[in-house]
Amino acid sequence: MGIGQGKTVTIVGAGLAGALLASSLAKLGFRVNVYERRGDPRRAGYSGGRSINLALSARGLWGLERVGLDKDILKHAIPMRGRMVHPAVAGAGLAFQPYSKDPGDAINSISRGGLNMALLDEAEKHDNVELFFNQRCLDVDMDHCRAVFQDDSNGPDGPIGTIESDLIIGTDGAFSAVRLKMMKSDRFEYSQTYLTHGYKELHIPPVEGGAFNGFAMDPSALHIWPRGSAMMIALPNIDKSFTCTLFWPFTGEHSFDQLRTAQDVEMFFKRWYPDAMPIMPTLVEDFLKNPTSSLVTVRCWPWVQNCRPMVVTGASPSEKGYGGRAVALMGDAAHAIVPFFGQGMNAAFEDVRVLCECLERHAGRSEHWLTDALDEYQALRKPNADAIARMAIDNFEEMRDKVGSRLFRARKKAEHLLHELMPGTLVPKYNLVSFSTVPYAEALRRGARLDRVLRVLILLAALIAAALVLAFVKIAAWYLLVAVIIAAWFAWDRWRYKRDTTA
Ligand SMILES: Cc1cc2nc3c(=O)[nH]c(=O)nc-3n(C[C@H](O)[C@H](O)[C@H](O)COP(=O)(O)OP(=O)(O)OC[C@H]3O[C@@H](n4cnc5c(N)ncnc54)[C@H](O)[C@@H]3O)c2cc1C
Repeated sequence: MGIGQGKTVTIVGAGLAGALLASSLAKLGFRVNVYERRGDPRRAGYSGGRSINLALSARGLWGLERVGLDKDILKHAIPMRGRMVHPAVAGAGLAFQPYSKDPGDAINSISRGGLNMALLDEAEKHDNVELFFNQRCLDVDMDHCRAVFQDDSNGPDGPIGTIESDLIIGTDGAFSAVRLKMMKSDRFEYSQTYLTHGYKELHIPPVEGGAFNGFAMDPSALHIWPRGSAMMIALPNIDKSFTCTLFWPFTGEHSFDQLRTAQDVEMFFKRWYPDAMPIMPTLVEDFLKNPTSSLVTVRCWPWVQNCRPMVVTGASPSEKGYGGRAVALMGDAAHAIVPFFGQGMNAAFEDVRVLCECLERHAGRSEHWLTDALDEYQALRKPNADAIARMAIDNFEEMRDKVGSRLFRARKKAEHLLHELMPGTLVPKYNLVSFSTVPYAEALRRGARLDRVLRVLILLAALIAAALVLAFVKIAAWYLLVAVIIAAWFAWDRWRYKRDTTA
């Protein structure tokens, strides 16, 4: 008998977070009903509308481990051990930058659709999970913990139904309907910030044979074309193709706005992405056909709202009312971030695991243990969500601009050297974020500390170099003085000799 026995959870959205959450809560004994706006991807075909593949790393694997899926999922992923930087000049060499001092550390390229479907399969294995597709959440009654869905199976005017439960969790993405309802509550804080950049996906197909066994480029790296204010990246797929993503400004010089015709696209790619162009046979069609999407960061608070207890004379809230019930947010619905650290899904999977651990800690401790657990979940996760949101934005500048520079490469080498020397203390931020489950807020702090150490070391090195130069100058001055004295002595001696011999 699990801790959730007798309690029902409604999950809104069967994307990555919702599907994993369903299995995780089912394992704790909750009865779980999942409502998803789209059709079942396993029957209708996957139409996620977002990136085709994504990078799965330590935190995501940690979330998957709880339902025993981590190893199976990794079998369908391609490890990427570093960045392969492509220069803008045709014929110039590629530069590989490992992500870590440890060659075993890698982030894993995985198909979004494949992963989502595997998670749905897993959820459906549990008797206490029911999945409902084509069910669009229209409204949430925060007082009574009820969610309202429209059945879109046969068109837009389908029947509307209401479901009541002990807990509603909105895992319905960056434009969450559940959050929209929470926003109408007093003192709910909310902000959404768009980048001036958008993204568009392109395709590199497999090749016949070649140096990488059918892949057009080395599949063990995340490929990156840094171009100052813009960039392109490419992640390998299991079918030996690559999915490229352009992260360009909407307007300006190197922007989506500039390329309107097939000729524009060809000329531009020849100029800026000369080594990619020959391996992108459908470039022009893809560019003109594929959508350009925006990149948003969402911050909000609180993530949990308790349902209002009904006032029933002589009855405790748990018997008659809605006390101890709640509506909560998770994944992108609570904290959508830009994708430059490859952490949105990883953070969402970490949310799932942290929530389950909170539920286990609080189970049965009080009448309102469910809401106590949710309070702890949001208190633990919010500072970390804010930290990764910030690091993700910072990492954009690093990827699109700095990775191409020699100074940056030297700095990365210095970071890895320090990490090698003091593996427990001086761990680079990238390692903490991608290869550990150290809380994001701590990763941000420790990353800043390593930055300071590096700055101090650079300053020390500069001071030592200056001292050496000074010392060298000083020694050289002494030598010069001695040389002048000796030369003067010789000159005086010679003058005296001449004087004495001519006298
Ligand atoms: C270009 C790009 C690249 C990315 N790369 C990475 C990466 O490499 N690594 C990484 O970790 N993250 C990455 N991310 C982030 C990642 O995609 C998200 O963080 C992740 O999908 C969040 O999962 P989620 O389940 O919270 O939301 P979603 O995946 O958006 O799922 C939400 C679900 O809710 C459903 N839904 C929406 N509204 C309703 C409604 N009203 N009623 C019912 N259902 C509804 C949707 O149909 C969907 O199935 C990337 C994002 C982008 C845009």
